[in-house]
Amino acid sequence: MIEGIVIKSTGSWYNVRRIDTNEVVQCRIKGKFRLKEKILTNPVAVGDVVSFELEEDNTIKDAMPHVSANGIINKIHDRKNYVARQSPRRIHDIHLLASNVDQTVLFSTIIEPTVKVGFIDRFLLMTEPHDIPTVIVFNKKDIYDKVAMAEYDYLKNIYVPIGYKTLLVSAITGEGLDELRDLLKDKTSLLAGQSGVGKSSIVNAIQPQLDLRIGDISDYSGKGQHTTTFAEMHPLSFGGYLIDTPGIKNLSFNNLEPMDVAHNFREFFQLSKQCRFGGSCSHINEPGCAVLDALQKETISSSRYQNYLKILDEIGDINYWERNE
Ligand code: GDP
Ligand code: ZN
Repeated sequence: MIEGIVIKSTGSWYNVRRIDTNEVVQCRIKGKFRLKEKILTNPVAVGDVVSFELEEDNTIKDAMPHVSANGIINKIHDRKNYVARQSPRRIHDIHLLASNVDQTVLFSTIIEPTVKVGFIDRFLLMTEPHDIPTVIVFNKKDIYDKVAMAEYDYLKNIYVPIGYKTLLVSAITGEGLDELRDLLKDKTSLLAGQSGVGKSSIVNAIQPQLDLRIGDISDYSGKGQHTTTFAEMHPLSFGGYLIDTPGIKNLSFNNLEPMDVAHNFREFFQLSKQCRFGGSCSHINEPGCAVLDALQKETISSSRYQNYLKILDEIGDINYWERNE
């Protein structure tokens, strides 16, 4: 049996880098893999450590010059952690974005496109269950005016005190990129963001040989073109790996119970020890709720709290609707 790391997944094929030789083997999977009781839309994620056997039949390999052989994955090693989102199509299934990461980097902007704080909070809800550190990188500093800078400071004051690093950069001027490079060095980082924020431009600026395609956006009515379809792991010349993921449109959480949401807004969870109902407080209208108290004293962010309520509302609606069908 050979061991390797999945570096790309197209849904039916997985590119696996052999740990012993560094060669890339294109693999299929055999059997069914599940995560707890949840159904996975993709059983194998980029970042997975797998065992596989080489196949005799190399017809596919012969058609693909960059692949050294074909193989069959028959074991996925235990994951240190993973980042999973609700499948956009089947709301109770989950989709693995990547596994075994040291950190995630969420790319955003303040303007062009306008920052969506709800999206930031949703992203952090997705990475929190495994305590994966997240850095929020705000790009396009070169076009920020005073108002945009004030907005950045406002957001920084929300996220830094609760333990998330923020960084202000520009792919165009290169400002802040040295700091980002330092953060990425010798780590495996999942990179994510909504399309158009400049994730590809930043990656190309810090690692030109990767040459990721940059979406040509002529107007900001919305998203950039979809340039990446599958997550892919790339080595960094200065040490470490990037896992680049396709632009995410939006994140929903019907795979979670309300308490999962409460426990994964980290500063609310921290405070819940002081709620009269402790870890079972949903912080909506319970008496003696420390989160509601903090909200009133403005020691927690009201925008985080509003986003929290919105998520609870969404998943409550769906679960109610399903129970009563
Ligand atoms: P992605 O969808 O997040 O990968 O974004 P792209 O890298 O494709 O960039 C989207 C658009 O934003 C392109 O038109 C880029 O030229 C532009 N862009 C990227 N970074 C910057 C930046 O730092 N400043 C400015 N002004 N524009 C940028
Ligand atoms: Zn409470």
